[in-house]
Parts: sequence; C-alpha cells; structure tokens
Amino acid sequence: MSVSIVSRSAWGASPWDGTPNTVPLADRNEYYVHWDGATPITRTGYAIPRAIEAQHLAQGWSGVGYNFVVSQAGEIFEGRGWTLQGAHCPGHNVSAIGVQIAVGGDQEASPQALAAARALYDEACSRTGRTLTKGGHRDGLATLCPGDRLYAWVQAGMPAAGYEPSTPDDTTPSTGTVARYQVTINGLTYGYGATGAHVTAVGEALVARGHGDHYTSGPGPTWTDVDTLNYADFQRSLGYTGDDADGVPGESSLRTLLGTLPSATTSTATALAFPGRRHFRPGANNRFVTLLGQRLVKKGYGKHYSVGPGPKWSEADRRAVEAFQRAQQWTGADADGYPGPETWRRLFS
Ligand SMILES: [Zn+2]
Repeated sequence: MSVSIVSRSAWGASPWDGTPNTVPLADRNEYYVHWDGATPITRTGYAIPRAIEAQHLAQGWSGVGYNFVVSQAGEIFEGRGWTLQGAHCPGHNVSAIGVQIAVGGDQEASPQALAAARALYDEACSRTGRTLTKGGHRDGLATLCPGDRLYAWVQAGMPAAGYEPSTPDDTTPSTGTVARYQVTINGLTYGYGATGAHVTAVGEALVARGHGDHYTSGPGPTWTDVDTLNYADFQRSLGYTGDDADGVPGESSLRTLLGTLPSATTSTATALAFPGRRHFRPGANNRFVTLLGQRLVKKGYGKHYSVGPGPKWSEADRRAVEAFQRAQQWTGADADGYPGPETWRRLFS
C-alpha cells in the first residue's frame, strides 16, 4: 500500500526561505527517526508541521528540516519530501531520509504513528530500490533524540503493521497564518490591531466591492484577521499574488479601493513595521524591496541604483543598504547590506 502524504501546500507551509539543495534518490541509503524533544506535545493536524516550521525558520533554516513528519493520528506531513536535502542531522542530511515522529518526553508513539512511519520506510526503500539502513538521530550525533522508546523500536527493526492512510480534517485555513503587521500610510495605520474610522471605511468599501465574505459582523473600527482576509481577497482580485496579496494594504491597492488616499492631518510620514529578513535576499521579489529602495533613494543612497529601485532584490539594493549601515558606524555582519529590524527602524522612523 502506498503512503498518503499531506503536501506542503495542503498544510499551509510558507515558501522556502532559500531553496534547499536537491538530492537524487540514488544518494539516499538511510532512514533516520527523530522525536520532537523532551516535552510531550498536544498539537494535532496542521498545527504540528506549522509549529516545527516556525521553530526551524527562527533557527535560520529554509523551513521544516525533516523530510517528513508523522503525527499520532498517522498523518504524514511533507517537509523536505523525497527530493530535497534535509536539515535534521549533520553528516546525514543527504544520505538519510529524516522523519520526525511527533512525540516528546515520555510520550508513547501510537500504533498509527508507528505504522505510518514504517509504511513510509517501506515506501522509501521502494523508491530508492534498496534496503535503507534504519537509524535514529543518536546514531549520527550525541543526542537524546529520538528518545529511548523510539530508539528501541528502531533497533528492534521498526515492527509495525496496519497502516491506514490518514489526512487531517482541519477546518483552519490552509493558507498559513494571517499576516499580522501594520503599515502607516499618510499617517493612518492599517493592519491587525489598527483602530479608527478609517478602518471602518476600508471594511465598508470592501463590502461594497463584494469582498466582505469573511465578515460575520461588522465591519468595525478595529482591524481584525477578518479584515485582513477580506482585503487579501480584494488584492487577489487586482491580480496581486504572494506577499503582495497578504491582506495588509499598500498605497496602490488602497487608492484603488477608496478612490483616494485618506490622510491624517498630524503626519504624512510613511512608516512600516519590519516585515522580516526573508523579504530581502537574492531571489526575493516583493513590494517591501521597492519600499526599501525608495526610502534609501530619499535618504541619499540612490547612487547605487542604475535602474529602479524595484521589487526584485538586487546587488544595488544590497550596496545601498550597506552604505546606509556603514553610515551608522556599523561594521562586520551589522553592515552586510541585508536589513534587519534596527536598519529598518532607522530608515523608516
Ligand atoms: Zn532528532
């Protein structure tokens, strides 16, 4: 019986933060079992890979480091999958298919979880055309992982039967978490938590344009996730995709929606919370890169651009940022040309 795998898009994975290397199946000869750690876990369904993803992104990895993650319900979530290099055990990330069984501490893996992990092993052997060596994380590195119980199971030859394909019936949106940052345009703040009559006005305009599907009440003066979801629908209707359709307004979509850009009388500055490092690196293509470039030009760092600035991250962007960072008397990694929160704050405050 072949295995049923919940794809990254189904569980709502973020795009890879830097693309992991591809590994041919011919280079795989091991199967490594992991656990979640010393603490039992209670998450179920999509929340399992999402939590691992958040943790691994925070560690600076591209996304989930395991090839697959198996839940207590017997679901198999795609991480690096069959073709991408893992980040689960130094020295074995190419040779081993790394699989986390999502238990921790003294938690016992369920029969469903063990059956799914075993079925995945059989599938891996079938795909590679060889008998993969069964191992646990501690075979490659001094670590408690995958815990004594799972390790004993691996050493016993991973006995399990009765695999039943299982997929979550989660009702949470499969599009990942809703964006929760704010932008200030013409002195008015938009995005999660923003309040004011201008927020109500945006909601009413969304309803008027037929993008009010997510409202069960309102719209009202406090910006909630529901406003973000409706605004994202509106952005997609304009042809925006990816980060440009994350439901947080930009100047252009806001002007289209309202016919004009409202402004607060107190300020005309454009401020923006730091959107995260992943938006600024080779291959990045998003409106924050444009905003950053425009700001750098405004601040006198425009000589680095022969064209642009535009949404595609370029060496010109990096050099302009580096010049700005050096002007702050920063050195070394602090002046590498990639903006962090402090660079951003100094540019936009
Ligand atoms: Zn491990």
